[in-house]
Amino acid sequence: MSMATTDHSEAPSSPPRVLEASGVRKTYRLGRVPVEVLKDASIEVFQGEWLAILGASGSGKSTLLHLLGGLDRPDSDGGVVKHEGQAVSSLRGAGLNNYRNRDIGFVFQFYHLLPELSVLENAMLPCMVPPSRLRASLPLASAAGGAAIGALAGWLFGDVALPAADDATPIRLAVIAATWAVVGAALGVLCFQLIQVLADRVRMRTGARAAEARKTLEDFGLLHRLKHRPSQLSGGERQRTAIARALGNDPPILLADEPTGNLDANTGREILELLKKRHESGLTIVMVTHDPKVAAYADRVVRIEDGCVLEANE
Ligand code: ADP
Ligand code: MG
Repeated sequence: MSMATTDHSEAPSSPPRVLEASGVRKTYRLGRVPVEVLKDASIEVFQGEWLAILGASGSGKSTLLHLLGGLDRPDSDGGVVKHEGQAVSSLRGAGLNNYRNRDIGFVFQFYHLLPELSVLENAMLPCMVPPSRLRASLPLASAAGGAAIGALAGWLFGDVALPAADDATPIRLAVIAATWAVVGAALGVLCFQLIQVLADRVRMRTGARAAEARKTLEDFGLLHRLKHRPSQLSGGERQRTAIARALGNDPPILLADEPTGNLDANTGREILELLKKRHESGLTIVMVTHDPKVAAYADRVVRIEDGCVLEANE
């Protein structure tokens, strides 16, 4: 097994280990053929460092970063990924969401911005907490409420709708009440959706989270682009938006997959300078790259080779 470690672990004053993968194996299946991308990969990340993972195309860099970020799991008997001592692969549901949403920020190789959202909305995505069970049940509750009010109104006042010659028999009233219940349910859902859209708009304009997202976007030189869609942005602006989104919840760790991979040299340098500034204010960075010049920005470099992680000078 190859373990990429430094003497950090022995030094008494070494910063804590925030993230680690031990003996990780990851196999993809192409039809019936298993492709073992990571064989025995171990890596440690220490608080406050900027670690670069260098490797050729196809060596498994993105795969390893996805495992560290809880976006994928190792093979069932293929080692463990731990965040502050807790196995990431054992996280499920809300625990896993919290890990992905608050403990780390992830910058994807190809931005992965949502095309129908503006720059500000994209940057605010991590702050949009997944609905609680209570909130998720609200559309159903508003439909039920609307239906109940409709049915009651139909039952009490249904005879008004009948032609004068018709008797308001219980069956007729029940049919009218049922019709009104359906209309009431539809109106209930409509009102709920309307309120939700308005609340989101207000939150987007006035909430503390919106102010923070604007501040980050301003720091990244995107204030004049807040309302633009990703398709209207240059590559560098898209990547800055993606980094602003990754930092939306102010996570202590940023995982960045080839953050300059699709940019020209100058734009790439701007992005690296921006990461450098964040790193200097305490952000731990794990950055994957195939480019030694990009890796040179990091405090420490490890290499992926043949499914294992090696110290850069091994
Ligand atoms: P890198 O980021 O170093 O370029 P990746 O981690 O993306 O490499 O991929 C490593 C290898 O695994 C490649 O050969 C790639 O084709 C393969 N691979 C990656 N993801 C999948 C997948 N979901 N299914 C099958 N093969 C995959
Ligand atoms: Mg990759």
